Amino acid sequence: MVRGLVKHSVGKGSSTSMWLDFWLPNGPIVQQLNLTELEILQLDPQVKVDSLIFNDQWVIPPSLQHIHFFQSQDFISQLQSIPSPTSDTDQVLWLPSLTKQYSYRLILDDFSPPSPVFAWTHLIWFKHHIPKYGYIAWLTLKERLETLDTMPMMKKHYTNVCYVCLTDSESVDHLFFKCKFSSTIWDFVQHATGFYIKPNSWRDLIVWCSSTWTQQHFITHKLLLSCAIYFIWHEINSRAFRNKFATAYQIINLIKGCIRVRFASLKLRNATELSKIGSVEAMQQLFIQGCAFARGQSWFLLQQ
Ligand SMILES: [Zn+2]
Repeated sequence: MVRGLVKHSVGKGSSTSMWLDFWLPNGPIVQQLNLTELEILQLDPQVKVDSLIFNDQWVIPPSLQHIHFFQSQDFISQLQSIPSPTSDTDQVLWLPSLTKQYSYRLILDDFSPPSPVFAWTHLIWFKHHIPKYGYIAWLTLKERLETLDTMPMMKKHYTNVCYVCLTDSESVDHLFFKCKFSSTIWDFVQHATGFYIKPNSWRDLIVWCSSTWTQQHFITHKLLLSCAIYFIWHEINSRAFRNKFATAYQIINLIKGCIRVRFASLKLRNATELSKIGSVEAMQQLFIQGCAFARGQSWFLLQQ
């Protein structure tokens, strides 16, 4: 999980892995090569970015000149969008930090649940939360995730149009709330949790959830919120960096599956135990409608 949150700023390129580290705008080179190129290259993880530098200039060595990726306009544009090599040492940037400084202390701070300063903290960190989804949801609510409209280097070479709908700018409010793709997922969350408010913005939605889902039995709702944020974020990254697309309905099924697995792991013995941690109505919406039931698992109790 840390790898995707660390970026390398190249100076002389002697400590940054050419293939594996995130030093180009579109991510590690290994993720940008196609299968044929990967087979031909037999990547050596010890090769550093300085293999592409000569006299402080970017140079493609003869051994790579027959590889399409290194001749592509995409690769050249990425090289042109980052600062030219220098004699300075390479820097490691910690993306969640506003200053981008990388330190063990900062990482520890970012991976520890925050002190309850924010009204929405209880939406993310609660008993039975899923850490992986909670962490991305927390970064999103703190507006610490990079989007195209917050990346000056990316702005220079790319329009900041949303990768998902291609019609509006890529801001947190658009990606996580107003985009047609995410609004379909929120319609599902709205239906499953029974809230029928019409918030005007992402921030309004979070304020409403923070002030309404305050009791213990809203765990299902909070899990839905974290999972929805995580899978929206994951889909945006898949489309932008891996050229993989899923429909909103496929994402909704993933969300349902994750919550099913989470509740199954709790090994609840009866419906009373279930009702203490999750709204039975929400569970019914999630698991009875359109989702296969697994007999013998805890959620089967809902059908009895
Ligand atoms: Zn969009």
